[in-house]
Amino acid sequence: MHQLTKTDFKYYLDCPESLWLLKNKPDVYPKGEFSLFAEKLIKEGYEVEAYAKKLFANGIDLPDYSSPAPLKALTNSHKVYFQPSFITNKTVFARIDVLERLVDGTWHVYEVKSSTSIKKDRKHRQIEDACFQTYVLNECGYTVSKVSIIHLNKTYVKQGSIDANELLVITEVTDAVEGIYSRVVNQINAASNFINKKSINETVCSCKYKTRTNHCDAFDYFNTTIPEYSIYEIGRISAKKIGLLADNEQLAIIDIPADFELNVNQQTQVASVKEKQPKINEVNIQRELDKLRFPLHFIDYETYASSIPRLDGLSPHKHLTFQVSIHTLKEDGTLTHFEYLLDTMKMPRDMLQAMQYFTGSTGTFISWHASFEIGRNKDLEKWLPQFTTYLTYITEHTFDLETIFKKDYIDYRFHGSSSIKKVLPVLCPGISYSDLNVSNGTMALDTWGRMVLDPNFDEDIEATRKNLLEYCKLDTLAMVEIYKFLKEL
Ligand code: SF4
Repeated sequence: MHQLTKTDFKYYLDCPESLWLLKNKPDVYPKGEFSLFAEKLIKEGYEVEAYAKKLFANGIDLPDYSSPAPLKALTNSHKVYFQPSFITNKTVFARIDVLERLVDGTWHVYEVKSSTSIKKDRKHRQIEDACFQTYVLNECGYTVSKVSIIHLNKTYVKQGSIDANELLVITEVTDAVEGIYSRVVNQINAASNFINKKSINETVCSCKYKTRTNHCDAFDYFNTTIPEYSIYEIGRISAKKIGLLADNEQLAIIDIPADFELNVNQQTQVASVKEKQPKINEVNIQRELDKLRFPLHFIDYETYASSIPRLDGLSPHKHLTFQVSIHTLKEDGTLTHFEYLLDTMKMPRDMLQAMQYFTGSTGTFISWHASFEIGRNKDLEKWLPQFTTYLTYITEHTFDLETIFKKDYIDYRFHGSSSIKKVLPVLCPGISYSDLNVSNGTMALDTWGRMVLDPNFDEDIEATRKNLLEYCKLDTLAMVEIYKFLKEL
């Protein structure tokens, strides 16, 4: 009989079929991008738990995860226990972050989360998590009278050593848990039954009727007949329209009837696929590019963020800009390059100084998905107010090159995306990220974080620096080449 854990249950609520496959055929479950980012989140979760323990002076660890803790061990000794584990007779398993015995002999369950608020949305389902833990304890004979979530304090700003009482907030959610308890119990029973089914229909799954954002890594496993350039690639298409097309087995964009209602951008994408031609609005593109003022500064930041702030002045999950690359193109075609990479975890004061010296407050700054860079400029203004005038200039003179690829340059080979990683290989096939040792922002964040924070970092520091610099440099060079390509249309 398969065990059902809290994580399994969350997967079940997302999609029963996906969990069934994972439990029953783990070898065929497609390994998606379980990424560095996910690993980092797990590590950070442990760190937050370690701080949460500091809120309970006399708590004890029950680290034996392999077997459920015996009832007596809990009730006869300490008041607070960390990580005790329990299993019901239907093999529903829970490990409780913090469990406190109250004076009346009932129990207070604490769930530790690395978010800065209680998240009830589909992705997080934190109340369902707390409810799951409560259910397992109740089933094992413990009366739970109080449930709380310990999460990060959004307003916390690190100054010196971290005080767990300031870093964390305890919010009681007993009423919210009670409100969903009977529904969750039914769902837990249904999940247990479902994962123990001998077989399910593996030839199709319900995401055939849902938009791409709902699909999991197993979509192709369950839906083997999805064509290339499928309806799921159409930008911002609604689930209702996916449903209408899927009902008629019109899964390929080329099969969409001419009179099917789509918005202008969607129609353009469909036309691009059907005609195997990019759809380019040259007038709009040149009008946008003509607004730019030389020199053009193609700029890209790399940032580091963590649940527990590592630097005085930072709050949980705030992004510290640790690297910048700027390619500056003058009107006469001269191209110069500036780059800066912090060697330690510190405020990027020297970086901004050098950057300001390089660009001055002149010309237009060009980013891809500029809201990210603009957000970082606003953070930097708060932390280093002496650069406010310069950073405000950048923000007010920033052009987002990605916007061109949202409406005025649509190419079926972008597969419905406007990401630079999809656009670049089509427009400038000579430039590629694939040969780089650092090839995306998450890798950059992880690599830099380990390099400057991990005392056991054993990779070659010079080679690591070079890899980071090459990656960021390619991002801005790619924008230069795409800009030149557009100018030559
Ligand atoms: S693609 Fe959707 S329905 Fe299919 S297994 Fe994944 S989440 Fe479930």
